[in-house]
Amino acid sequence: MKARMKQTLCVLLALVIAFSASAVCFAADSGCDCGTAPVVFVDGIGGSLYLEKEDGSREQVFPPDTDTIVKAVVKLLPVLPLLFFGPTTGVFERSLTKLACELFETIRCDENGDSVYNIKPGSSNAVKKENHYKEDYRYYFAYDWRLDPLENAKKLDSYIDQVRSGTGHDKVVLESYSEGGEVCLAYVGQFGGAKIEKYVTLCSAFQGLTVVGSIFTGKVNVDPNQTYYFLTSFLPTLMGENKALDGAVKFAKYSGLLSGLCFVINRLIRNDFDNFYNDFALPYFGQMPGIDDFVTQEDYAAVRERLSDPKHKNLLERVDRYHEIQANAKQILSEAVEGGMNICIVSNYGCYAMPFVGYNPYQSDALIDSAKSSGGATMAPVGKTLGPNYVQRIADGHNHVAPDGSADASTCLFPEYTWLVEGFCHWNRPDELMNWLIRYNGQPTVFTDERYPQFLIGHDQNMTAPMK
Ligand SMILES: [Zn+2]
Ligand SMILES: [Zn+2]
Repeated sequence: MKARMKQTLCVLLALVIAFSASAVCFAADSGCDCGTAPVVFVDGIGGSLYLEKEDGSREQVFPPDTDTIVKAVVKLLPVLPLLFFGPTTGVFERSLTKLACELFETIRCDENGDSVYNIKPGSSNAVKKENHYKEDYRYYFAYDWRLDPLENAKKLDSYIDQVRSGTGHDKVVLESYSEGGEVCLAYVGQFGGAKIEKYVTLCSAFQGLTVVGSIFTGKVNVDPNQTYYFLTSFLPTLMGENKALDGAVKFAKYSGLLSGLCFVINRLIRNDFDNFYNDFALPYFGQMPGIDDFVTQEDYAAVRERLSDPKHKNLLERVDRYHEIQANAKQILSEAVEGGMNICIVSNYGCYAMPFVGYNPYQSDALIDSAKSSGGATMAPVGKTLGPNYVQRIADGHNHVAPDGSADASTCLFPEYTWLVEGFCHWNRPDELMNWLIRYNGQPTVFTDERYPQFLIGHDQNMTAPMK
């Protein structure tokens, strides 16, 4: 009996050993010990959209090609004089609305916020293991930027799972840009940070943009000074210093051309905005949840009002869900950070906002308010300082006020993990800073490396230097 027992035990033991050994082999096979987590990148608005036809072929419908845009503008030319010299602007508005509707028909969303046509985003990068540890390699997640970020976040979750299993890493680094910040906040709001080693976000739209709320609530006004400042601060960041262009903008301002143009546009807005809004802005862009979710907390009540028609019930429920997440961003992200997710927020600032918001010198990256994309920095108007007697809003034992007095980061969601780059606009990526944040082992802070303090100056399209 004893011998039988011994034999059985031996067999069992052998089985256990064999099983564990194979389990170890299995783990070694599927895991990756390179020490460099794969990076999943969630881009901003404007990714290509394709119309999928019945035979399976695809045609790009967004962005419209130059040919289509030129044709549209040419159609508008005959009625252009009416804008300037006509007794009313109605004829021009109706032509403009008709053309805009034609141009964007294929990407229209229905009253629930779903695509009317069979539209697909481009393809996410195929998940191959080979390149994941290379410094610049990204697993690009393609999504339809018009749609509900909560739905896009579900697709992002499956893609993150594919990347995890395909590369043998438990966690990924999540990098987002612009609207990608909206999708990623919706992601963390639904799934938490368990699969994310580090979240690095640039010019994030997660708290909205004033300009979208202004358009949706009709608070639009084109100010000549704002337009001038916008163009002079924005064009060089996009195209480098350009004397001819600079001269042209100056000429437009001092010759009165710019004021005249603004006057005409404002007349159009004043007379016909409601028609343009009801016939185009609302049924086309207002029915895209991804766009509605760009509305800030401050403007949301007014925008909700505009969507109060019962036909928008489902859309409104969707948009409400994101705005609840938007309002609770601090708690949602803090819980993920407490659970071990590292976070880095990078915000560009020092540019004037788009001219549509009237004269409003709040800090912007030319598109997104920097106070929003930084998660709550206190900022002086563009070109101004917080004043010689300014005292840091929240005393936490560190200095979070910019050396040039332009901003105070102590009011950010994460003052230690927020970097601000002055002089860069929405289209500038501070490459070295971003790559350092992404590849730094662990949680970097604004005090970790003197090359990358809280406040930096952007130059040469993608380089930064510490602000002194
Ligand atoms: Zn690896
Ligand atoms: Zn601090």
